[in-house]
Amino acid sequence: MNMTNRNFEQHTSFPFYVPVKNEKAVFRAAYQQGLSILLKGPTGCGKTRFVEAMASELGRPLITVSCHDDLTTADLVGRFLMKDGATEWVDGPLTRAVREGAICYLDEVVEARKDTTVVLHPLSDYRRQLPIERLGLTLDAAPGFCLVVSYNPGYQSVLKDLKDSTRQRMVAIEFDYPQPEVEQRIVVEESGLDPEQAQKLVKLAQAIRRIETGGLREVASTRVLIAAGLLAVQGLSLKEAAQAAIACPLTDDVQVSNGLAKMVEVYLS
Ligand code: ADP
Repeated sequence: MNMTNRNFEQHTSFPFYVPVKNEKAVFRAAYQQGLSILLKGPTGCGKTRFVEAMASELGRPLITVSCHDDLTTADLVGRFLMKDGATEWVDGPLTRAVREGAICYLDEVVEARKDTTVVLHPLSDYRRQLPIERLGLTLDAAPGFCLVVSYNPGYQSVLKDLKDSTRQRMVAIEFDYPQPEVEQRIVVEESGLDPEQAQKLVKLAQAIRRIETGGLREVASTRVLIAAGLLAVQGLSLKEAAQAAIACPLTDDVQVSNGLAKMVEVYLS
């Protein structure tokens, strides 16, 4: 489906987003063709901010759902609720997005229960349809509707991996932490930290990202660098800020924790 000629309302204030590669061009092309989009990448590297920026640019409402392992099909599609003694159907976020022609962002989609991905199939391919079993109807997605899902390939067990039948219905955009100078700019912009200190934080993060150990659940993301920057602009020393926002949250392993504390000392002196 081609939606190039549609006049969508324009938003004036765009969320701050620095492009890292050609992700905007790929998203725009997929959107114009009505294709679904899969954002792959580690936590805190800008996937959510990117979708917010694209929704703004394309002038579409954005409906975001943070997926978790209790998320059911009814949570996405809708359910009957009791109201004043009568039952009333209430649309879930996915149904609202389908009706309104919004961008629906399912964050960490692999966390959702397996059966939920089944309702995504007819929506994410050429049919663009949402079957609502409870109502005995199938909705055609309104123009402008776009399904965007994200997942973190590093996180999940094989069992939780995204089904092939789901991923093959999507255009994938791969995310990683930005280049050092881009990440520095993001930290400066988002936290108000001065560029020199932001550069030190980025160097520390790069060193942490190079560590290979089972004791680290996640490496330092752009998000934790911004948090450290926010603490530092409140008057904490850069070391204190990095210890609290970067080193400490990353691990509970005593040895790894000591190692990170040493890195903070070395990189932020
Ligand atoms: P994810 O959804 O991948 O977990 P987020 O989009 O929440 O990550 O990113 C975490 C924070 O990092 C954002 O709130 C934003 O401040 C910042 N950020 C990351 N990448 C970018 C980018 N390319 N441009 C602007 N801000 C970014």
